[in-house]
Amino acid sequence: MATASIPISPLDEFGIKIDAKEASREAVHDIIDSWMDEVDAMTGGAGLDSIVKESFKMRQELMGKIVEQLVKEKCSDELNRETMVCPNCGRVLNRRDMHERTVETMIGEIRLRRPYFYCTNCKKGFHPLDDVLILSDSVKQWDMQEAGANVGAELPYNKAQEIFEKLTGLSMSDHTMHDIVDVLDIAPSAEEIEEKVGRVAKGKKWRPIMVLTIDGALVPTRPDDAKGKGKGRKKVRAKRAKWEGEWREEK
Ligand SMILES: [Zn+2]
Repeated sequence: MATASIPISPLDEFGIKIDAKEASREAVHDIIDSWMDEVDAMTGGAGLDSIVKESFKMRQELMGKIVEQLVKEKCSDELNRETMVCPNCGRVLNRRDMHERTVETMIGEIRLRRPYFYCTNCKKGFHPLDDVLILSDSVKQWDMQEAGANVGAELPYNKAQEIFEKLTGLSMSDHTMHDIVDVLDIAPSAEEIEEKVGRVAKGKKWRPIMVLTIDGALVPTRPDDAKGKGKGRKKVRAKRAKWEGEWREEK
């Protein structure tokens, strides 16, 4: 029996093997087929609204799977990577394992199964695909963080969470919303802001989005009679709130 020769795959304009691309597109067509069957079975007879609502509910499942396939196409080299050079010590590392990770994006969940490397010298593990894809360390990726921050900056967190979920069909706890917006309780100094930005940005390629909101904070106001009469600096600093102070809500 003759042994089958390994076919030489021509490359397309993006350098993706055409055979692999065709197989990938076929997989996408299968995904769409079964998705349509599912939506079809779920929707009642009539009404665009019912079809749209069902499609909306299930769109993330479809889009997530399509993106997974696109990642497989675009990052096939990374996904098949056997070795890497440790960025800290320069040693060549062999692939240890394949690790799964699910990330959440505005178009839905995306499951990744990518190579894992470990440097025994530096005692540090690496997932090079995560760097290629510029993933956020958190489950919720940059597009979700940005959308959450936009809503969270405008509304109280519990309300922001409710609106976000209603409009996107995606979940985001008010705790996460809080973390994304990252409340600075008291007006910080420039050094504190720099330190905070540095800490949040550490190990990330993208600069973090910083949103400063001042809302619902009560600011003490002083009555006119609290003003000093004399010119120039006083030797003794006035003690605060000796009088019945008025408070104003800052927006
Ligand atoms: Zn190393």
